[in-house]
Amino acid sequence: MIIKADIVGYEVDYWPAGVPFESDDVVRNYYHWEDPYWASRDNIRRVTARFFSGSPIYYLMHWNAGTQLAGLDARAADGSVREEDFAGAVLVEPMDYTCPFCDARLRAAIVDPGSPILGKDRPARLRAHTFIPDCPVCHRETRARVAEFLPPV
Ligand SMILES: [Zn+2]
Repeated sequence: MIIKADIVGYEVDYWPAGVPFESDDVVRNYYHWEDPYWASRDNIRRVTARFFSGSPIYYLMHWNAGTQLAGLDARAADGSVREEDFAGAVLVEPMDYTCPFCDARLRAAIVDPGSPILGKDRPARLRAHTFIPDCPVCHRETRARVAEFLPPV
């Protein structure tokens, strides 16, 4: 069953941790071989959103490592989530990232700065967030707000 959740005033479809993704639609940015990793992370929840009449888009909500999301999945399921549940979350999008120093081609979860989802207080959310400072291959600095690199799958 697909869970509809109100994420600070924006309706999305929401997947609890560990639940395999499913959709009858073609979903942009969804890759079935990547989903199990994102689903396994305690500090990530997957959502899809539809803008105007376009295809749904797969996004990740990302919290700093170690954030306790106890009860969030249950509250999403019964419709009782509140704005405080999303404190500290930033919206990120799985995408290709090429390191400008070593040309490593990586998959990464990178901040979407333009989405209305979690757009409220975005500057404060970004300031409070910990991003990955360097490339996992050459260890020089990242040139994007990378929340996670996807390990090779
Ligand atoms: Zn590099």
